Amino acid sequence: MTRYSAEFHFELRACRWAEREWPPDGDGDRTVLVARQLGTKRRRWDTLVLECDLEGLRARSKFGPKRLDGDLLHVVRNAPDEWTYYRDALPHPGYPWRYVREAIHRADDRGVLETRRDGNRIQIRRRWPYPDWLERIVAVENKPDLDASAARSLASQLEYDVAMALADEVWVATRKTGERVEPVLFEDLPVEAGVLALEPDSLIAEVEWYPRSLPVDDPGTRILEQPAGGERDGSAARFEYVDPAEKTERRLAIAERAYERGWRSFVETMRPDCRHFQLRSHAGNQLVPHCDATGCRQTATECSGSCPEFEPEPPAWRTRGWPIEGGPGKRCRRLLEDRRSDRRPGL
Ligand code: SF4
Repeated sequence: MTRYSAEFHFELRACRWAEREWPPDGDGDRTVLVARQLGTKRRRWDTLVLECDLEGLRARSKFGPKRLDGDLLHVVRNAPDEWTYYRDALPHPGYPWRYVREAIHRADDRGVLETRRDGNRIQIRRRWPYPDWLERIVAVENKPDLDASAARSLASQLEYDVAMALADEVWVATRKTGERVEPVLFEDLPVEAGVLALEPDSLIAEVEWYPRSLPVDDPGTRILEQPAGGERDGSAARFEYVDPAEKTERRLAIAERAYERGWRSFVETMRPDCRHFQLRSHAGNQLVPHCDATGCRQTATECSGSCPEFEPEPPAWRTRGWPIEGGPGKRCRRLLEDRRSDRRPGL
């Protein structure tokens, strides 16, 4: 297995562990949604654990399984419960109103907002209040085998996270070595980041270091550039402040994407329509991708149209029920989609 493949599969196991066991201190009564490979333009996290309010999450399901992007959120969160001209109802978005009108039409098409015309004016009314469903965001970096160079780049990513404080907590998940002191603790990582040692097959995890809660409601500091280091490097870091309101919007936008995708969406970036694609059960409790041609667990990068072993599934596989039901590829998607939906109460 290549390093990337090992990291990818560790990541899927870490997601599964988080879904079953979060939080790590054993207070297992939290409602969580887990997603992977999400973040902002500048920073993408391996795993995101959203701690949610159960009632809020149920209420969120009325808006459908697809995410509400920033423009739609602006509209549905501020929509009034009585018919009102949209410009009177919504705060100025900071960009031209025509984009708001476009978002209003999209929200109407999706059935999450009511609209009507009063002469030339568009009036809006909310269908349901947008609920407070998100409580906390926990970001986890998965590093099953942390060597010195991986630790250096991880340290600067974590410093960025701590300064920005977009997530409530940041963690590093590493493969449990069983040594008296886990080697990851000797690395120069920010003390605010928690460390989790996970045994990926048995899904047993131990907290090696508890994280500090980050001040998500305070202004964040976005590190734009760091000095390269070394004795001769006297350059200063460059950074900018980020407004708390902007952070709140970003957090919600990230949470909405996590709500839509979950972590089982890996199949959407792979080729389940390849005849060699399989889903296999790992440790009896999780479906993971497997390539029959190579006999390995493939990564999304390997499992693409440019894969030299790619062969489309034969049309005969699809005949029963095709094209509505589809062949094994479509069944794989549906299976993962069903499991993803199971995690979103109310859908
Ligand atoms: S042969 Fe290539 S495209 Fe097909 S399942 Fe294997 S890795 Fe994916």
